[in-house]
Amino acid sequence: MTDFKLISDTEWQQRLTPEEFHVLRRAGTEPPGVGEYTDTTTEGVYSCRACGAELFRSTEKFDAHCGWPSFFSPLAADRVIERRDTSHGMVRIEVVCANCESHLGHVFEGEGYGTPTDLRYCINSISMTFEPAEPGKQ
Ligand SMILES: [Zn+2]
Repeated sequence: MTDFKLISDTEWQQRLTPEEFHVLRRAGTEPPGVGEYTDTTTEGVYSCRACGAELFRSTEKFDAHCGWPSFFSPLAADRVIERRDTSHGMVRIEVVCANCESHLGHVFEGEGYGTPTDLRYCINSISMTFEPAEPGKQ
């Protein structure tokens, strides 16, 4: 089994497109409103585009009108790692994949969205691959 934490930058560059590499491995951010999953409401599971680990479900996705796919909770708490991020002169909480430590986005708290957690996992579409649920199967 691949240990995704040991993959070198050179190998990531071969595995990912330049755009994916920039966001996943260089903590980049895709522009708002352009991501392919921003408005997706189809039932299914979002996996890490770098390693394939399942990260988020459509059942926790909500429309935050912020320009990026937003979730109020990950699929399971141990699927993501949250780290303090002080880049760009801001204090934010970065969200990375627990399996491969690729950058996914940030999580914001207390914005009053009326979701069960009052958290907004603001995730780049390009960091994820969406798999629609098969009809009749959970
Ligand atoms: Zn991953």
